[in-house]
Amino acid sequence: MAMPTKSSERWIADGNNIKTQLEAAGYTVDLEYAEDDIPTQVSQLENMITKGAKALIIASIDGTTLTNTLQNAKDNNIPVIAYDRLIRDSENVDYYATFDNYKVGVEQATSLLTGLGLVDASGNKTAVKGPFNVELFAGSPDDNNATFFFNGAMDTLKPYIADGSVVIKSGQTDFNTVATLRWDPATAQARMENILTSTYSDGSKVNGVLSPYDGLSRGIISALTSAGYTAADIPIITGQDAEIDSVKAINAGEQYSTIYKDTRELAKVAVAMATAVLNGQTPETNDSKTYDNGKKVVPAELLQPVVVTKDNIQSVLIDGGYYTAAQVNG
Ligand code: BGC
Repeated sequence: MAMPTKSSERWIADGNNIKTQLEAAGYTVDLEYAEDDIPTQVSQLENMITKGAKALIIASIDGTTLTNTLQNAKDNNIPVIAYDRLIRDSENVDYYATFDNYKVGVEQATSLLTGLGLVDASGNKTAVKGPFNVELFAGSPDDNNATFFFNGAMDTLKPYIADGSVVIKSGQTDFNTVATLRWDPATAQARMENILTSTYSDGSKVNGVLSPYDGLSRGIISALTSAGYTAADIPIITGQDAEIDSVKAINAGEQYSTIYKDTRELAKVAVAMATAVLNGQTPETNDSKTYDNGKKVVPAELLQPVVVTKDNIQSVLIDGGYYTAAQVNG
């Protein structure tokens, strides 16, 4: 198993969950993290192939840099499962275990609109007109998921931008301008600081921020609080992964929402795929059209993401056993 980095807690949970489940099924697992360094991940995979791995489960750092490595895997008859992030530009990706990534973006934007009061609890447009100042952030441009999140979010925000109730005051709307290489929180913080200086020095306020990942949200919150925003006027800020520090920030009213993706369930899917392939069976999938990696459409199993706000931390995260009350309130 090749995981991208330990700097974000979700990947640690993913790695542990898959390892535990595979070991319980009698497999020996080599779990490696690459600290977001592409050559490190490539050499970890080459090593696994050399050491006789029977299957590879890969959450890539840059989804476009594994073509040669996966050819090597193919030459050695090693099946490959892309985990969470699609691996691009290779025929040698057998299956893909992930969440409905476009829907993640739709849910992020919908919760932003709900937080601003433009959409009601049933998802319908309200009589509120704004205008609200919103700034946009996207994930790493080399991560296939980042465009899916951004497209889902922008398709949802577009009508509100068109009717003037949402204003992207900085004018920065292009994916490449708002993307955040390697999902780095410090990069997002610096960009938010720059936007505050360039666009909001006239005393106007940011009302909402589309952020695709909790780590970026925390960087964005730091930039805003350093500039004088308090719990009373902090914008509506989204996120993803239900990281514990962000769940606490949601409880404290600093962050509005996150997207919860149960990594225990994703691990189960990846383990079921790997064991099926190793036993000569065809794994279950529920999507055979969405994930074209440039060389083939990879059969995928898509799980459903869940929006979490202050209102359902208890029912979803605590009652669901993802966190204890002590972790959330501690
Ligand atoms: C994952 C997200 C995660 C992001 C940053 C994406 O590929 O789907 O869950 O927030 O990477 O690690």
